[in-house]
Amino acid sequence: MTMSTRTLIRNARLFDSEHARFIAGTTVVVEDDRIAEVTQERREAEAARVIDAAGMALLPGLIDAHVHVVAASHDLTGLAMQPASLVGAEASRIMRDMLHRGFTTVRDAAGADAGLQEAQRRGLYEGPRLFVAGFPISQTGGHADMRPRGLRGTGFFCSCAGIGLLGAIADGVGEVRRAVREQVRTGANQIKIMAGGGIASPSDPLEGTQFSREELRAAVEEAEAANLYAMAHAYSPRAVTRAVEAGVRSIEHGNLVDEATVRLMKREGTYLVPTLSTYAALADEGERLGWSRAMLDKLARVKDRGLDAVRIARAEGVPVVFGTDLLGHMHGRQSGEFLIRQQVQPPLEVLQGATWTAAQLMREERQLGCVAPGACADLLLVRGDPERGLQMLAEPGQGIALLMQAGRVVFDRR
Ligand SMILES: [Zn+2]
Repeated sequence: MTMSTRTLIRNARLFDSEHARFIAGTTVVVEDDRIAEVTQERREAEAARVIDAAGMALLPGLIDAHVHVVAASHDLTGLAMQPASLVGAEASRIMRDMLHRGFTTVRDAAGADAGLQEAQRRGLYEGPRLFVAGFPISQTGGHADMRPRGLRGTGFFCSCAGIGLLGAIADGVGEVRRAVREQVRTGANQIKIMAGGGIASPSDPLEGTQFSREELRAAVEEAEAANLYAMAHAYSPRAVTRAVEAGVRSIEHGNLVDEATVRLMKREGTYLVPTLSTYAALADEGERLGWSRAMLDKLARVKDRGLDAVRIARAEGVPVVFGTDLLGHMHGRQSGEFLIRQQVQPPLEVLQGATWTAAQLMREERQLGCVAPGACADLLLVRGDPERGLQMLAEPGQGIALLMQAGRVVFDRR
């Protein structure tokens, strides 16, 4: 029998993520990888280690609900030609950096597979706990069909092997079912479907819809049959509406939504996962990265509407979750999302979207995104007062004093 390891953190100002408020003078007892007790009473329990938080804010580990850990390059077609082993090694570096920004859990919005998830779980490298989607499901010519116009047929672009961001191309209800079942078979935690046009793809208009209603419904049905859920890439009111009516759990991006659409989302209990930092990054860098005029025009349109979408959604009571969607060297901007969101959301609401609400979306409430008995011991001690702004999370190198993941101290810079 091995003895359990007890850590006691005292004198902390705890972020109660469920109610988006702080509770001063809190003691948290961690046992192995779990939180054993949270109390306002004095505890002199025997502990291997006592951490005096000195009144600092104690947050649950952060969750980014829209990342692509395999996106080592913004050139997704080029990436698909790399050996899977190399992409995996690059992903491990991207994941390590995410963890050191305070993200103890991430939801991968396509690309990562069960192997990366298991490697992190085994501790082969440091990184956030990973929830994977496998390949994104896309129709022919849809947002994840990356074939250049000159190419006919599928060839290696059918993404039969390896990891990467190329879609599993499926047309018709039967193929969609098979494609979703294939992601389930290979260990997906959620199913990503491309329900409308996108920016980083060559030939699909932003306002267009993708998949028939029957195909969308089939994808959701197959996800639910496996006790999973579907997340849908969609920008326009029309695309969002069709995906919500088909039963997806979250709308990714959603920049162009209007009042009628968010009212439908509210009624159906759909989450919105905006990804604003990626538009800011691409607006700065898209031209230098060689993006076409058509792609840059699409980008300008969604960038301006991104903050409005958050404004409209929260006014209607739609749960808004933290996401980023960054590619390649732009991953370094992940924490900048906190400051962008603050333009339209109070800081503690932004923080709730990166903890409590994100965990709810992933059906991991009371396990992740909160500091409560039985939850994973993912914790951050941060400098400054998050109620007044999230600068300390935007600059994690200075702002995060201590980071714990599953009971293990990742760093302690107090
Ligand atoms: Zn994405």
